[in-house]
Amino acid sequence: MNLSTLEKILVHHPAYRLKQAREAVFNQLVESWDEVSSLPLDLRTKLEQECPINIKHKIFESDESNTQKAIVYLHDGEQIETVFMQHKDKRNTLCVSSQVGCAMACEFCATGHQGFTRNLSEFEILEQVILFARILKKQNQKITNIVFMGMGEPLLNYDNVLEAIRIINSKEGFNIGARHISISTSGIREGIVRLTREPLQINLALSLNASNSKLRSEIMPINRQYPIDKIFLVLAEYIKVTRRRVMIEYVMLGRVNDTEKHARELSLLLDNKLGKLFFVNLINFNPTKYFKPSAKESIEKFKKILEKYHIPVTQRFAFGHNIHGACGQLTGSVK
Ligand code: SAH
Ligand code: SF4
Repeated sequence: MNLSTLEKILVHHPAYRLKQAREAVFNQLVESWDEVSSLPLDLRTKLEQECPINIKHKIFESDESNTQKAIVYLHDGEQIETVFMQHKDKRNTLCVSSQVGCAMACEFCATGHQGFTRNLSEFEILEQVILFARILKKQNQKITNIVFMGMGEPLLNYDNVLEAIRIINSKEGFNIGARHISISTSGIREGIVRLTREPLQINLALSLNASNSKLRSEIMPINRQYPIDKIFLVLAEYIKVTRRRVMIEYVMLGRVNDTEKHARELSLLLDNKLGKLFFVNLINFNPTKYFKPSAKESIEKFKKILEKYHIPVTQRFAFGHNIHGACGQLTGSVK
């Protein structure tokens, strides 16, 4: 797909043509320009040639049947992964990528080990949404939630991510409520500061993954630049200004960050620092070759200790083990 040329092609046409074309792609979810009968035939032919909207991809189904992974092939031969999860409560969540690879080099993360290639354009982000929205439309269903928890660090591709979110959110676009859109970050200070001033009511999640800065620096190198204290300062400001709850993500790594000592340390770290508007999400680690997941009992104990300290905590089971498709475990394994 190559939507970036759309505006160039339509620049000499009346403004409503661009609106019609965008609505056809984002809202009516047409799969070829031929379907857009509101556009003149010669324009349709030109768009079909110069701005095709077919999406090169491959779908992997999981045995769990509630998860699908797509590999999307980009125009320069790069590829990204997108994961779709259908929940029992009727939520249809799409986990999208924001970059090809990631520069943050987190030790436990498969994408981190791949290194950074480039940012995705606004349209390459939207392509992932269009792909699954088209598939779901055939089943009379819709994407209800979007999470930026695929490959890459969304706050290091701030402008393109926010442009894509504006279209995801807009009535002429996918019309998904801002409260159903979440950005997860490893803790990019400037990005959090910018988000604080953004009028959009989107959700923010911080991948904390450690109960102290020394440990965090070992598994997440970004912590050497932006240690926990610095990030918590801007996060507290974000919460104060936006009055929105922030999710603290904590991936449970066996014997690395999951002992009772870590649970107590995390509780004390969080207590009062962020006010009351946050909650911790304990995430089951999808094994990569670098770390082991925590034992079930360790996770339960960990959760109990947080509760004893009155820290709001939930637990998320990652989906899609068998398609290497869980959020954050986008391996690029097909490469
Ligand atoms: N770069 C952003 C968003 C993508 S990673 C960030 O780090 O927040 C999304 C989430 O997946 C992060 O919370 C990360 O800690 C988590 N994650 C990474 N590898 C994982 C794995 N193998 N299993 C489970 N979660 C993982
Ligand atoms: Fe990048 Fe997030 Fe993976 Fe860290 S966890 S390497 S920030 S994708």
